[in-house]
Amino acid sequence: MAAITMNHIVKRYGDGFPAVNDVSIDVADGEFMILVGPSGCGKSTLLRMVVGLEDITDGDMMIGDRRVNDLAPRDRNLAMVFQNYALYPHLTVYENIAFPLRLAGADDKEVDKKVREASKTLELDEHLERKPGNLSGGQRQRVAMGRAIVRDADAFLFDEPLSNLDAKLRGQMRTEIARLQKRLGITTIYVTHDQTEAMTLGDRVAVLKRGVLQQLASPRELYENP
Ligand code: ADP
Ligand code: ADP
Repeated sequence: MAAITMNHIVKRYGDGFPAVNDVSIDVADGEFMILVGPSGCGKSTLLRMVVGLEDITDGDMMIGDRRVNDLAPRDRNLAMVFQNYALYPHLTVYENIAFPLRLAGADDKEVDKKVREASKTLELDEHLERKPGNLSGGQRQRVAMGRAIVRDADAFLFDEPLSNLDAKLRGQMRTEIARLQKRLGITTIYVTHDQTEAMTLGDRVAVLKRGVLQQLASPRELYENP
């Protein structure tokens, strides 16, 4: 069974051309799926429908065998890693990572165990007492991922996470995200307009154009058959 199934998904804003037009994609357990296409092709809208931040006009959104069209974001157990990182500037790295656990009412012992595990995986253990304003872009990105990891989310969702970074850091982070995704084995959907990211990060790539799914294939297949 697929981890996430988008079944004939449609999104209309008003009367115009649908922003997402009859898109069907199945994301396998542990798979790294890329959504790629030019600005305005509907990739953010599609991701926001997966996570529950946008109503679905038509079609079925499934997580495992559960239809989630009407489920609130907090009941989907997915972790969105936002472009601007959405970190709390007044909290330390430790407390930023701990935040979802505190919210869920975990006790101090469990919080400590999970935060230390996640920060070890993400190589943040030496920065736990720092605040986001004193971190590099790459470190902030990892704190955002740490927050997602401690929740034991069923999937990571990324919306253009590297687009604010300079070219060098983008390259490093690309490698790092791919490495962490494989290490964690967590199902991932990653939105980008960047062809290099699309062709290097994903197990499979879904190419969108004007809301329509044009191709769904591995990077190798796309390379040989553009
Ligand atoms: P992408 O992420 O590929 O850049 P989006 O999903 O943001 O594309 O947008 C897809 C289309 O839907 C665009 O034509 C955009 O203008 C339109 N759109 C996105 N959000 C809204 C909204 N809240 N209201 C009306 N139209 C929207
Ligand atoms: P990374 O690849 O780990 O994100 P960078 O290459 O951006 O890190 O930076 C290298 C080191 O410089 C980091 O480990 C960090 O300790 C330090 N550093 C970078 N930016 C800042 C900053 N704004 N404030 C304090 N230290 C920083």
